[in-house]
Amino acid sequence: MKKKIVIIGAGFGGLRVLYNLEKYKDKFDFTVINKTDYSLERPALPEVAIEGKPVSKAQIKIKDYLEKKGINFKLGEVKEIKPERNEVIVDEEIIPYDYLIIATGSIKDYDSIKGYREYGYSVCDDKEASKLYERLKTFEGGNVVVGAARSYFGHVVEAPDLKAPCEGPVGEVMFMIDHRLRKEGKREKSSINVFTPGEIFFEDVGDNPRNTVGKFMEERGIKLHLNKELVEITDKEVIFKDGSSLPCDLAIIIAPYKAPDFIKESGLGDDMGWVPTDRTMKHIKYDNIYAVGDVNALAQPKLGHIAVMQADVASSAIEKQEGLTDEIKPFKPEVFCIMNMGGFEATLILSNALYENEYDIAWHSPIAKLMKISFDEEYYYAHGKLPPDFMIEISNYLIKKLFGGK
Ligand SMILES: Cc1cc2nc3c(=O)[nH]c(=O)nc-3n(C[C@H](O)[C@H](O)[C@H](O)COP(=O)(O)OP(=O)(O)OC[C@H]3O[C@@H](n4cnc5c(N)ncnc54)[C@H](O)[C@@H]3O)c2cc1C
Repeated sequence: MKKKIVIIGAGFGGLRVLYNLEKYKDKFDFTVINKTDYSLERPALPEVAIEGKPVSKAQIKIKDYLEKKGINFKLGEVKEIKPERNEVIVDEEIIPYDYLIIATGSIKDYDSIKGYREYGYSVCDDKEASKLYERLKTFEGGNVVVGAARSYFGHVVEAPDLKAPCEGPVGEVMFMIDHRLRKEGKREKSSINVFTPGEIFFEDVGDNPRNTVGKFMEERGIKLHLNKELVEITDKEVIFKDGSSLPCDLAIIIAPYKAPDFIKESGLGDDMGWVPTDRTMKHIKYDNIYAVGDVNALAQPKLGHIAVMQADVASSAIEKQEGLTDEIKPFKPEVFCIMNMGGFEATLILSNALYENEYDIAWHSPIAKLMKISFDEEYYYAHGKLPPDFMIEISNYLIKKLFGGK
């Protein structure tokens, strides 16, 4: 009898596990459970909010596509896992599994910031990005504040304890807003202030990317404020935990990241609700439960790139458990992202400074922008499938050769 693989979440991590393992359709039955009938490509959302990219281009339709391939797709929200019984509960339906992959990503906790719903904007979800797009149509210039709120992580497994687990979007938004306001002739009457809860901005990379970003901020008159934990947004300011504030007509916030409540309620979370796994992405207590992507306590920073790396490790671990391979891929986290800066500008960041510290690259070029556009297009039309591994490996190799390892 075929074994049942159930995947909760059709984002970067969940889809990658599925596409890695679907070649074993004769051995496994796959069920993907997702809250929406599309997979949301979050890295495309700053373009939706600021450059007017249609939101539908960030919503990759997968339900019909997967069903045509013979994969069960369950549209719904998981509210409980019963790990002792190997069951997932979705809208009162019980879905049994032999292997479970938790790939739910993280919840963006907008409601934990006082005043966010009245006065705040974000790019973290499709609804929020569309709301910001509408707001920008009538924004005549003023005080813009951009920053990440503080997030909290557990201490069951060893991972970097970042205060802001994903500051790339802060970088994108500040540069893209700057570019848009200049194009619209509104920059002179605007200020752009950026805050971080960290002691340093971009705490997940090393000096090269940080200095590159710092130089572009200085050139553009974007001011940075360190050690600022957001507590409230009002109609005219943002207020921080230390009592200080910044004048604000438009606040664009990366909300605190938190783990979905049902993980902890199902007895699968660490002290902050994130899923603790070993370095093969297997749950520290359960032999048939894996977690990949943002929800995994080891995923720091919280990046699509790391979700995909973890998915590759988890897929190979399941293959090994089933005797289909001898080797489990090692987990070697790195930051890889392309920061859109508006117009033809973008900076590619490739760094493992937070880990082995062998490379720490920032490459500013219109070619990086072209790479981002072509990645987004390919990802959309390939239903969330990434380009073949060899292409990614070659481009990674070339970037390191050209711009330096250590
Ligand atoms: C604005 C922005 C820009 C970013 N840019 C980059 C970038 O340039 N490069 C990069 O590498 N990373 C980037 N990231 C981070 C990246 O988007 C995330 O790290 C990545 O999406 C995590 O993948 P995931 O599979 O863990 O979760 P997600 O992609 O969030 O997918 C989780 C899926 O699970 C589903 N789900 C959640 N809970 C349930 C439930 N209870 N029941 C059923 N389904 C559920 C959701 O609907 C969703 O489809 C960015 C993030 C943001 C917000």
